[in-house]
Amino acid sequence: MEKIAIITGASRGIGREIAKQLAKNNIKIIANYNQSEQEAIQLKQELEKENIIIDIIKADVSKREEAKKLVQFVLKKYKKVDILINNAGISEYKMFLEETDEDWKRVIHTNLYSAFIMSQEVLPNMIHLKDGCIINISSIWGMVGASLEVLYSISKAGLDGMTKALAKELGPSNIRVNSIAPGLINTDMNADLTKDELEQLKKETPLGKIGTPKDIAKCVEWLISDTFTTGQVISVNGGWVIT
Ligand code: NAP
Repeated sequence: MEKIAIITGASRGIGREIAKQLAKNNIKIIANYNQSEQEAIQLKQELEKENIIIDIIKADVSKREEAKKLVQFVLKKYKKVDILINNAGISEYKMFLEETDEDWKRVIHTNLYSAFIMSQEVLPNMIHLKDGCIINISSIWGMVGASLEVLYSISKAGLDGMTKALAKELGPSNIRVNSIAPGLINTDMNADLTKDELEQLKKETPLGKIGTPKDIAKCVEWLISDTFTTGQVISVNGGWVIT
């Protein structure tokens, strides 16, 4: 029976590439989006040209009711969820002392609370089936911290903490939980970086290049096929951060 995967934030960037990569591996994709409806429709149409049918579902996964509806749709249609990729995320650059309670809510809810609620919504089914794979897309900044990105760093460190603790709790149910912590990846999230800044970052990276969404999608593909890796934070970063 084919595997069923929910990918949050799959309209653009890394999530979109993960959707494409897994769809070509005969995995049924439920691609979540929030604001980028046109991009989500384009993704669906692009894959249809290769005879691959995916579901695109609008939901703000930082909100419990919308996350719940998304998972209920999938469980009603496919009766199970094998794979959950918690990818939806936003960045924010601000001096720490300028951060507001609203900023905290927006960043932490989008990047961390979303993974908490999405995991809670899919887990009863995974535990029942004694099978599952959850991948949280965190960041190198959760590992080493980024100046002017304290809230982002907190959210990503929180994701990694969740990964480790949940992996211990869910191992006996044969559910693997891992984080992928990307380094700099060429997506809209980094659209503000100038050419000079990108060149400088390349120089600081041992492999001498910026990552692509495909680099992350390949790691996701491998983690799904694996059976003995859990509770790990796998950083795909060209050697930029080595801990
Ligand atoms: P991106 O190109 O800006 O895409 C972000 C995606 O997240 C979009 O599809 C967006 O959907 C979705 N999203 C945001 N808020 C959402 C919400 N409330 N509900 C549902 N979807 C939501 O960013 P990206 O670079 O692909 O980032 C993907 C993940 O990788 C993020 O978690 C990010 O923190 C992480 N990451 C990225 C990098 C990097 O260098 N790019 C490095 C480390 C980690 P809509 O547009 O439809 O709203």
